[in-house]
Amino acid sequence: PKNLFTDRKNSRGLLISDPAQARLLLNAVAAAIEHGFEARPLIGGEPYPGEGAAVFDPALHSRQVGTVLNATPDMVTRAASTAAAAQGAWDRLGGVRRAEILERAADLFERDMAVLIALCVREAGKTVSNALADVREAIDFLRYYAGIARADFAEPKVMPGPTGERNELSLHGRGVFAAISPWNFPVAIFTGQVASALAAGNSVLAKPAERTSLAAYTAIQLMHEAGVPGEVLHFLPGSGRVIGTAMVRHPATTGVVFTGGTDTGHVINRMLAERAGPIVPFIAETGGLNALIADSTALPEQLVRDVLTSAFDSAGQRCSALRVLFLQEDIAERVISLIRGAMAELRIGDPMKLDTDIGPVIDGNSLAKLEAHAKRMSREAGFIAEAPLSDETRDGFFFAPRAYEIDAISRIEREVFGPILHVIRFKATRLDKVCEAINATGYGLTLGVHTRIQETVDFIRARVRIGNLYVNRNQIGAVVGVQPFGGEGLSGTGPKAGGSHYLHRFAVERTVCINT
Ligand code: GLU
Repeated sequence: PKNLFTDRKNSRGLLISDPAQARLLLNAVAAAIEHGFEARPLIGGEPYPGEGAAVFDPALHSRQVGTVLNATPDMVTRAASTAAAAQGAWDRLGGVRRAEILERAADLFERDMAVLIALCVREAGKTVSNALADVREAIDFLRYYAGIARADFAEPKVMPGPTGERNELSLHGRGVFAAISPWNFPVAIFTGQVASALAAGNSVLAKPAERTSLAAYTAIQLMHEAGVPGEVLHFLPGSGRVIGTAMVRHPATTGVVFTGGTDTGHVINRMLAERAGPIVPFIAETGGLNALIADSTALPEQLVRDVLTSAFDSAGQRCSALRVLFLQEDIAERVISLIRGAMAELRIGDPMKLDTDIGPVIDGNSLAKLEAHAKRMSREAGFIAEAPLSDETRDGFFFAPRAYEIDAISRIEREVFGPILHVIRFKATRLDKVCEAINATGYGLTLGVHTRIQETVDFIRARVRIGNLYVNRNQIGAVVGVQPFGGEGLSGTGPKAGGSHYLHRFAVERTVCINT
């Protein structure tokens, strides 16, 4: 069958290494940052008042980026009933019209890229290149899900009619989706969740991560401007405990899509289980404890580059990030010494500077957790390296990337969400045990493999339960429509974001049989 997406291109990038393009981008981003931002609840397209909370830049404590007015549980109730009433018309609009609106939103995101990038940098502490990738991924999600809406949600599929009747199978929105998103991809994952629910014909109650409501608010405004009715798409900033709970418990909510920690996923799942009435589908993308296996045929320079990118890019704050590097013992000394050298060269500092490799972590709480883990590691593990912090890090939540050697992956009980790499040596004859140990973590998100031996790739892929496996490259930055992303086990329920099966989980199927 024809691939629907072969003629669809991913969003336009920028060549940051070209000084002229870089200057244009930085000027636009700096101009966008000038004015203070404000986010507030949007219900039925109307702005609501709320209690204000100041938002500060994780890279510089004293710099206020804006203010967020948080929603209340009453507002959730109001939004949920408006959303439920508006959903039928949105569904009847059909896949093609919804796709047109989402594609218009993609164009508007491209138009306002500088503002969105500015917010990813200042509100989430992303480096400029990570911020650009975040916004591009959001644009890709909008266009990709629009493509699926056109293909699968426009016309009913005609089934065989063996006795002369006409049989049709069609897809429709489930009703009202609660979308609960994380701070680590403030534009991409937020927009991806909302766009998928909308494309499938649902109304949406969108709750951004508390840390990144300003970026999400900007994304919502662009989707409204593109033509998503305010009655269909509501914005409810606030805490998970108050607003997330109210959304999940509300009887009008007929589906939940969530990206975040595995523990929070369990909490939401329990709340849904306690609800009377229909069983509510729950799409969860949760954590990872991701490994990379390198054997003695790996190319050391390529391996070290990919290890550093996988473990430390985005300050390790990706659920795809590498946490545990398994090195075949024959190459371990050499690779460890290269890692040490490469870590000494990392530049950690102001995320607005183009030569910065790693910016801050998201907040003080995250920093404290990383420091506690590092403290434990310095007692229990072998120290490998600590990257240097520049002067720019003094007044922000910066954590110097670290690497430790440990003897078993089971020493790490849960996801460590930041730039800490653990290294384990293994014997070539024990590759099966390495696969078993990775499976035994219960997580199944990403795995890297560096080897020149095809049989080794085949051996590993046949054994590990992993959503995204990357061979001889880094293991982050899945591209929409190219590497559908998501894990299994403790890492999530599926389906994969940016994959061709995703939208179907947001939909109900209806069969109509017409006897003529
Ligand atoms: N999709 C991202 C990647 O491939 C990770 C998403 C996440 O951290 O939730 O790196």
